[in-house]
Amino acid sequence: MSSEVMVSPSSKPLVSEGRMKLHFLGTAGYHPGDRRQTSCLFLPEAGIMLDAGTGLYRVTPLIQTDTIHIFLSHAHLDHTFGLTCLLDVVAKRPLKNIFVYAEQAKIDAIQSGLLHPLMFPVELPIQWIALESQSCDSISIDDAKIQWFPLMHPGGSVGFRIDWPKLSIAYVTDTTSHVDSAYWDILRKVDWLIHECNFSDKETEFARLTGHSWTTEVLKGAKRAEIERLILTHLQPTNDNIDPLGLAAALAKHRDLGPDQVIVAEDQLCIQLDIN
Ligand SMILES: [Zn+2]
Ligand SMILES: [Zn+2]
Repeated sequence: MSSEVMVSPSSKPLVSEGRMKLHFLGTAGYHPGDRRQTSCLFLPEAGIMLDAGTGLYRVTPLIQTDTIHIFLSHAHLDHTFGLTCLLDVVAKRPLKNIFVYAEQAKIDAIQSGLLHPLMFPVELPIQWIALESQSCDSISIDDAKIQWFPLMHPGGSVGFRIDWPKLSIAYVTDTTSHVDSAYWDILRKVDWLIHECNFSDKETEFARLTGHSWTTEVLKGAKRAEIERLILTHLQPTNDNIDPLGLAAALAKHRDLGPDQVIVAEDQLCIQLDIN
């Protein structure tokens, strides 16, 4: 990886010590339902959001910084519709800056589609930053270094790895994972991996067809990359099973990771990330 570039200093204290929280504001793929809003993760202490699905509307009381950095994996509506909720957010909690980072083609699609004046007649207080406009493949926000990397998905998507001096997380969504996928090398030994798992092992053909992942293949990749803790998200919204991904059976059969290393995310889950 090449050296990083500082995009925007913020007024918040550096996230260099103590603990940081990761909030799952939305954990569904495709559409919201009674159990799950669509994909949105938030790190309040860092002012960093990952994707902007419908779960974004929950963010207001969690905000701790005057600047929010939103990283979009791609433009599909289950990752972007929540941008329209930013109007409600800033009405209650004014922000100095809202930076939204995505590939240029995805920014163009969002602006000419979801945010076209005939679709949404108010201009959002967003400063758009094309990932390709950076002179290298990482961005620094305070003491966080954010890398992005391409993923296989209809229309393309990108994953993100965020490294603080003593903590690392990665977010990989909307891709058909394979144990040999190149991105596992980028994720190697990350402390926390949040990975999509829209389907169980019984739905592998549909996962391939739609550009998504299933349980066992994600577990195999996580084992290959020596991931310590894995959180599965972006679940099928119509799946209301207690064990929607057949995780217990997959772990028992393949033994790639221990049961204490894997969590299936639910909306409003909050993880305390230890910074060693
Ligand atoms: Zn999606
Ligand atoms: Zn998608």
